[in-house]
Amino acid sequence: MPEALRQLHWQIAIALLFAVAAGALLADSAAFISVVDFLGQLFLNGLRMLIVPLIITSMMQAMLNLPAASSVGRLGGRLVGWITLSTLLAVLVGLLLVNTIEPGVVDGKPAGEALGLDAETDTVMARVQDAGTGDIAGIFLRMLPPNIVEAAAESQMLGIIVFSLLFGFFASRLEAPLRDAQTRFWQGAYETMLRITGLIMRFAPIGVFALVSETVAKTGWQAFGPLLMFFLCVAAALLLHLLLVLPVLLKLLAGVSGWQHLRAMMPALLTAFSTSSSAATLPVSIDCVQRRAGVSPSTAGFVLPLGATINMNGTALYECAAALFIAQAYGLDLSLSMQFLVVMLALLTSVGVAGVPSASLVAIAVILGAVGLPLEGVGLILAVDRILDMMRTAVNVYGDTCGAVIIARGEGEAPYRNSAPERETRA
Ligand code: ASP
Repeated sequence: MPEALRQLHWQIAIALLFAVAAGALLADSAAFISVVDFLGQLFLNGLRMLIVPLIITSMMQAMLNLPAASSVGRLGGRLVGWITLSTLLAVLVGLLLVNTIEPGVVDGKPAGEALGLDAETDTVMARVQDAGTGDIAGIFLRMLPPNIVEAAAESQMLGIIVFSLLFGFFASRLEAPLRDAQTRFWQGAYETMLRITGLIMRFAPIGVFALVSETVAKTGWQAFGPLLMFFLCVAAALLLHLLLVLPVLLKLLAGVSGWQHLRAMMPALLTAFSTSSSAATLPVSIDCVQRRAGVSPSTAGFVLPLGATINMNGTALYECAAALFIAQAYGLDLSLSMQFLVVMLALLTSVGVAGVPSASLVAIAVILGAVGLPLEGVGLILAVDRILDMMRTAVNVYGDTCGAVIIARGEGEAPYRNSAPERETRA
């Protein structure tokens, strides 16, 4: 086998290309769809199975290995700084492009009528309603779940994170013999989880093929027609953030080349793209950041679970772009102060959006409500939401990995200097 094909990210990329071709050619074959549906679910289940134990073990070992209690506050402060900076820039990129391209205006007229509303709106909204909401008080309530087992069963990541942070923090303050026993236990459990991740990632090319070919077969291209400008506008904004804004920040704040980081994070980006879920991608991003970028387990274990839950660059950009597009399509010219409100709401609600497919639709509904637009506006964008979800999830995950490298640099680590960037995920 040629050397390049031994590398996981090439295998996944090739699977992706085959998936697009197979999805388009076999769109009418029910047998094909049921087989890829089964395989895709199997791969997703494998990743999802890891989420809860991985969050718990990574946060525990991170807290127990942090050098001093004060570093928890420092790391947390840096993470909040990174989330605010990168998300704000993402939203501004979205704002700029939608205002310049004006995808909601066709031949000088609002595109609303030409687009029509999708009857499925209610169904989709009901489905995603449970996935996590953009409402701000809800975020605080989810931080302290009344029942931790229930929170784990419902994959409420924020609650699990807060509980693990508390447990890890107090375990790290126990007397030496008790503390050391816990440190060794959680470190071993974490290492075990990473090895299971490695095993599941070996099946990533098959999983990615199945998930993407199913999406292509079910979505088709005809849906893009009237929404093409909106699709292209959001895709361009996401690419701009991914290929320009984040690499510049990476260079300025960590002295790391954006190209090198992009290549090293490919397995995580491709997994995010095919699963549309930052939560499901968490095992892969932890693996890439630790083994390929050389970030320490304590920094990666602290930053990435939190990042996957509350740092969503691509989602914030999309929320802002979608709300402005819907306003344009309804023929509304939003004032500067209204646009400011949209920016702030996109920034804040992206924190509460869960890392699962289509979760931002709820936050978009919250923004539409706040600026007085009809909620059915969400129906306008449903046809292209799935593909844009894949793209924004990749940007979400990339933003988390950039944050991990930058924060590691700030903590005096030397990412990429003491790692083997192309080293394979190991089982
Ligand atoms: N699918 C996204 C994620 O998991 C969330 C969203 O924007 O819908 O990161």
